[in-house]
This record gives sequence, structure tokens and C-alpha cells, in this order.
Amino acid sequence: MTQQSKELDIKKLYLITYSGAKFLITNEQADKIVSLINAGAKVIKISENNYMGVSDFKGIYDSKNIEDDLRRKNGQWKCEYGTWHDKGQECGCGIAKQYGL
Ligand SMILES: [Zn+2]
Repeated sequence: MTQQSKELDIKKLYLITYSGAKFLITNEQADKIVSLINAGAKVIKISENNYMGVSDFKGIYDSKNIEDDLRRKNGQWKCEYGTWHDKGQECGCGIAKQYGL
């Protein structure tokens, strides 16, 4: 693996709870948390002073997913060209592409 592709692999991960809390965690922590849950833990440590009940665990998502989710909540939508548009805004990406913009 080259240095560059290694850096691209590093994503921000967030642990999301049903009660709406969001914790930034490392890949390593994510692996640990998931294996603890799979092993049947009732309470897991997510950071130095934060412990949570497994029943409140919703999932672990990367920052890309969180951003997309936030955009959708704000009414934005993603067109077939992969561009985000504001609510009610029409997609002009096809035309832009046609003219090489
Ligand atoms: Zn578009």
C-alpha cells in the first residue's frame, strides 16, 4: 500500500446513539467497540469519561455518511452527477458538462 492510498483510507468515524449523541472515534476504537458489542457487553467505554449502554448504540458511520445525512435533513438533494443541490434548486450539471464546465 502506498503512503497516499493509506492516507485516503483514514476516515473520521462517528458513533451515533439513539438518544442523539455523536462521538468522534478512531478506527481502532470502532473495532474494539464492535467486538465488545458482539461479545455481549452491556456497557461500553467510548472515550476517557464516556461510557454508554449498548441499548443506546445506534451505529458507527464515517464522516461522509454523516455529512450526506445532514444535507438530506437540510432539504438538499444529490443529483445523478453527484452534486448536492439546495431544496428547490434545479440541476444544471448536465448542461455544464455538455459545455465542458
Ligand atoms: Zn446536478
